[in-house]
Amino acid sequence: MLIKKAEFIWGVVKDNQPWPVNVPQIAFYGRSNAGKSSSINAIVGRNGLAKSSSAPGKTRQINFFNINDNLYFVDLPGYGYAKMSKVEKDKLQDLIFWFMCDTHVNMRVHVLIIDAKLGIQELDREIIELLYRSQEPMIILLNKTDKLNQSEIAKTLGRTRLEVGDNAHIIPFSARTKRGVIEFWKVLNEIKRTKKASDNEGVSA
Ligand code: GDP
Repeated sequence: MLIKKAEFIWGVVKDNQPWPVNVPQIAFYGRSNAGKSSSINAIVGRNGLAKSSSAPGKTRQINFFNINDNLYFVDLPGYGYAKMSKVEKDKLQDLIFWFMCDTHVNMRVHVLIIDAKLGIQELDREIIELLYRSQEPMIILLNKTDKLNQSEIAKTLGRTRLEVGDNAHIIPFSARTKRGVIEFWKVLNEIKRTKKASDNEGVSA
C-alpha cells in the first residue's frame, strides 16, 4: 500500500470526541514495550509517527492518525507499564475499554501487538476476550520475530493459534526487519473486501 499521507490528527480522552462513522478505523493495542509504536511506524513507513509508550506526553490518550485521507490508524495507550500507579493503570484501562465497547463506526479492525518472545499475557487476554464480544475482525501481530529462530517462531505461532482459534488473523511480524508488513496490508484488504461484500448483501436482501 502506497502511503501518501500519514499524520497525527487528534488525541482523544474519554467521551470527548465524536468522529466520522464512515471512516474505517484500524485500532492498535499492546502491552507497553511490545513494540506497538515501532509496528505502526513500520506499517506506514514513517519513523517517529507513533510515540513509544515509555515516552512522556501523547501516550495516555488515544491518538488518531489520518492515513491517505481514507483510513484512521488509532493508537491506544500501551497497558501494563510497570512504573504506573494503580489509579493511572485503572484510568488507562477504562479509556481502552470505553473505546472498544462504547464507541462505534461502520468498520473497525483491531490489531493486537504481542511480543513473540513472551506470547499472550494476562492483560492481553482481557483485551482479546472483549474483542471477541465486539465481533469485529482482529489481527494479532507477533512482533520481534527477528529475536527468535524458526522453531521458536513456529512454537509461539502454534500456541497463539491454540489460544485464539479462528477468531483472529495471526501474522509473524518484526517492526525491525519489516517482516509481515506486506502480509498485514494484504489481510487488511481482504477484511475490507469481505466487509464490503457482506454490506452489499445486506442492501440487496
Ligand atoms: P511500545 O511501548 O509498545 O510502543 O514499544 P516500542 O515501539 O517503543 O518498542 C519497545 C522496544 O522494543 C524498543 O526498544 C524497540 O526498539 C524494540 N522493538 C520494537 N519492535 C521490535 C522488533 O521488531 N524487533 C526488535 N528486536 N526490537 C523491537
